[in-house]
Amino acid sequence: MSIKVIFAASEAAPFCKTGGLADVAGALPQALTSLGAEVTLLLPYYRAVAESGEVVEPTGIKFEVPVGRRIIECELFRTDSGGVDVYFLKRDEYFDRSELYGTASSGDYFDNLERYTFFSRGIFEAAKALKISPDIIHSNDWQTGLVSPYLKDTYGKDPVFSKTSSVFTVHNLAYQGIFDASLYHVLNLPRRHFGLAGLEFFDQICLLKAGLAYSDAITTVSPTYAKEIRTKRLGFGHDGILKFRKDELHGILNGVDQTVWDPASDKALPFNYSADKVSGKKSCKAALLNEFSMKKTRAPLVGMISRLVDQKGFDLIRKSIDDIMSLGISIVLLGSGEKRYEDFFRGLVTAYPGRVGVKIGYDEALAHRIEAGADIFLMPSRFEPCGLNQMYSLRYGTIPVVHATGGLNDSIRDIREPDANGFKFKGLNGKKLVDKLAEAVIFYSNKPAWAALVKRAMSDDHSWQASARKYLSLYEKLEELLHKK
Ligand code: ADP
Repeated sequence: MSIKVIFAASEAAPFCKTGGLADVAGALPQALTSLGAEVTLLLPYYRAVAESGEVVEPTGIKFEVPVGRRIIECELFRTDSGGVDVYFLKRDEYFDRSELYGTASSGDYFDNLERYTFFSRGIFEAAKALKISPDIIHSNDWQTGLVSPYLKDTYGKDPVFSKTSSVFTVHNLAYQGIFDASLYHVLNLPRRHFGLAGLEFFDQICLLKAGLAYSDAITTVSPTYAKEIRTKRLGFGHDGILKFRKDELHGILNGVDQTVWDPASDKALPFNYSADKVSGKKSCKAALLNEFSMKKTRAPLVGMISRLVDQKGFDLIRKSIDDIMSLGISIVLLGSGEKRYEDFFRGLVTAYPGRVGVKIGYDEALAHRIEAGADIFLMPSRFEPCGLNQMYSLRYGTIPVVHATGGLNDSIRDIREPDANGFKFKGLNGKKLVDKLAEAVIFYSNKPAWAALVKRAMSDDHSWQASARKYLSLYEKLEELLHKK
């Protein structure tokens, strides 16, 4: 009998997306399905879902979700995404808003605790309404952190969930879902769970910690990050509990959706190419330079696509920019985020005429054109749970230059290592970054060596299949454990 999985996430491509979680939630359920699992994906019905252009239909199924003292009615909508049943929990008062979690001007939505309490409890009510008795409920990040305590405390007693184990995946420990303790009544969980071993974190409610404390297994998105979050530097206050739960903590590297990210068939590109016939890549570079009104160049074009936040190492780039530009490279950046970085990159366009192209904003198609048109992809993240762009870059023959952290460390092999696919520096400082980038620029001038490197990078396998197999064997292990009890 195939394993039944409910996958709960607060965002998933192509319906609603703010970051890497959406890519994972869009692809992993499909990969698990192709391996024989029966996966149902549950998402909130945001305004973005209605505007996504995907056909999402009402099911006529309604149920009630207790949130604090209120009983909230929820309606289920449905679609199919690559063979996966996707259900959306619709409650406009919570989700019919311009953004998913908050706005740039006003910050997080004031009622996020209530919104995601509703969603997390709604997962169980939806499963009951759909008559799904899951072997696994797999929740993701703080927005669904309450799923595991609800299973342990509230729903595990229900025969529908008596054989259900919980898996919680941390996509980024820096986002924690912290709320004032005075709101605890919203959760409808007994007071005893608000303690050191439960979801209390420095006298506040922490939904991330709810997931860490109550789930049968915890995963995170790369083996290196699974180690890093057990240290003071990257544990964000949770290193203690993660050390304590070390045996239940697993690092599984994300894959990439190879149908979406394939230079041979990518419709966003002006020219297609493959590892065997790479000439189209040169034309993509010329077209990209042209698009940004930049000068033609024989030097490498460095691409960056990112949220413009400290985590991604932009302070290092800012401090070292003169040394970076003195390497003779050109830069194309696509991103949005902190104003000081947006201003900094806008300023570079005038400071280095013809050598820097910048677009502030979010643009999926341009992200593809940059992956194809750049020669080097720069990602000096301070920490990086997994990172997707370095893997997209490999697939597009754009050689990553990365800081050796998290998933960057696990997916990129430095030029001095056997079977190299990129450049990787250890030690987070501007000099190390510039030295490594300089090494890549020098290597670039050796055309046959660079071509061989590009070919090798493009043949790296980062498909979801391999990752999905690891999740599946974790699910199976949890099932075995449960049956032994
Ligand atoms: P994170 O989740 O920390 O933002 P990841 O590398 O894991 O970083 O995933 C980022 C995802 O968002 C990738 O798919 C990347 O291409 C995409 N992305 C980030 N910024 C932009 C942007 N400005 N325009 C288009 N896509 C973007």
